[in-house]
Amino acid sequence: MGLGLFGGGAGIAQFLARQGAQVTVTDLRNVTELAPSIKQLEGLPVTYRLGGHCDEDFINTDMVIINPAVPKDSRFIRIARNNHVPMDTEIHIFFQLCPAPIIGITGSNGKSTTTTLTGKILQQTQRVTWVGGNIGKSLLLELNEIKPSDIVVLELSSFQLEELHNAKKSPVISVVTNISPNHLDRYSDMAGYIQAKKGVILHQKSGDYAILNYDDQELKRWEKECKGNVLWYSTKDVLTNGAFVKGNDIVLSVKGTTITVSCVSRIKIPGVHNLQNILAASCATYLAGANGQHIEKVVATFPGLEHRLEFVREVNSVRYYNDSKATTPESAIAAITAFQTPVILIAGGYDKGSDFGEFAGACAKRTKSVVLIGKTAGKIKELIIQKKTQKEPLPLFTPNTFKEAFQQANALAKSGDIVLLSPACASYDMFLNYEERGRQFKTMVQAL
Ligand code: ADP
Repeated sequence: MGLGLFGGGAGIAQFLARQGAQVTVTDLRNVTELAPSIKQLEGLPVTYRLGGHCDEDFINTDMVIINPAVPKDSRFIRIARNNHVPMDTEIHIFFQLCPAPIIGITGSNGKSTTTTLTGKILQQTQRVTWVGGNIGKSLLLELNEIKPSDIVVLELSSFQLEELHNAKKSPVISVVTNISPNHLDRYSDMAGYIQAKKGVILHQKSGDYAILNYDDQELKRWEKECKGNVLWYSTKDVLTNGAFVKGNDIVLSVKGTTITVSCVSRIKIPGVHNLQNILAASCATYLAGANGQHIEKVVATFPGLEHRLEFVREVNSVRYYNDSKATTPESAIAAITAFQTPVILIAGGYDKGSDFGEFAGACAKRTKSVVLIGKTAGKIKELIIQKKTQKEPLPLFTPNTFKEAFQQANALAKSGDIVLLSPACASYDMFLNYEERGRQFKTMVQAL
């Protein structure tokens, strides 16, 4: 139920079909929308029920595998439950069958970056490393090759964690990057969202490790609920147990041993938030057998991921950055504050119930001009006007199309400025997904 486009649905469908199960794939989206996922299932004996669900598929079946994005109050889940049909998820099945220890990485922002850094550092070591999960790759298909001595790095979404929480499973090493309001269109309140995230530590054992961001006010309170050991990381404070920064050094204090990695000045990915991601990855990889050299090598070369504060091009001394993956106010704040030079920001999009107060404050204080698009444009504009205290009004624009927004931002840019796409919102009101939004932005930059 729910093939989706993130890899999990296609992964479990392939896995089950190859095991000899009779698989029916059902999704509210149609063939065209799901084309990339359907392509992965080519040649397999799969029955499709697309563009909507049918009641009988949830009654006459041995098991329903539910995509984490399916709302829990779906009528069809109720039908399955009422008919005593067992339900499970791709991630839980993987946890049950995976023979290797799992590092699980979650948080409101920074999951993919931290997961990738962790995977790349561990790939420097002798240990065979597998990277997957919410980052877009189901590792179920690789299960045959994964050995107990290997290590698995999984990005976990809060929806996946909810499933693991229900099944009372947590990774042996858990990383939580930060907690801020997200997906409040799906969770009734912040407490529900936090509880889902907490699943990542609640079922750990005494020898396991939780790696938590000491600079995050919510995470600071989690220690007493951790069942295993806790390692903290901070870009501000000196810590005795975990990772912190001292001048050019990352200092790692773990299990009574301290090492320093001199690499801060060579970090390629901008912003304090990325330094936090590096500290998190350093702790996790050190626990899993990496040394200072492995960490240093990756930190000094990793250029960042596409659509995450991605440098696109410099034209007439104006630098263009694509941060289309910034779908929350916090990630867009992280982007705006990562630069010392004037920023012309393109923001706005689908409304998932976020609070834009702090984001509007950051725009008012730190940008030169803001061009707003999509459903949230009017709302954000009002908030920025309220937050603006200086005499000079901040130029704000609300064009109708993305193209006009880009042209507007471009017309405002002077030598030395930055044009930044960091929407603070999801993209679904105007684009298929954040990738399409980012690619359109890059195409316009390349055409300049
Ligand atoms: P996620 O997988 O949690 O969505 P990504 O690594 O894909 O995280 O980054 C998503 C967005 O959040 C990008 O705009 C990125 O620049 C920003 N970001 C990355 N790490 C952090 C962090 N630690 N805190 C805040 N924002 C972050």
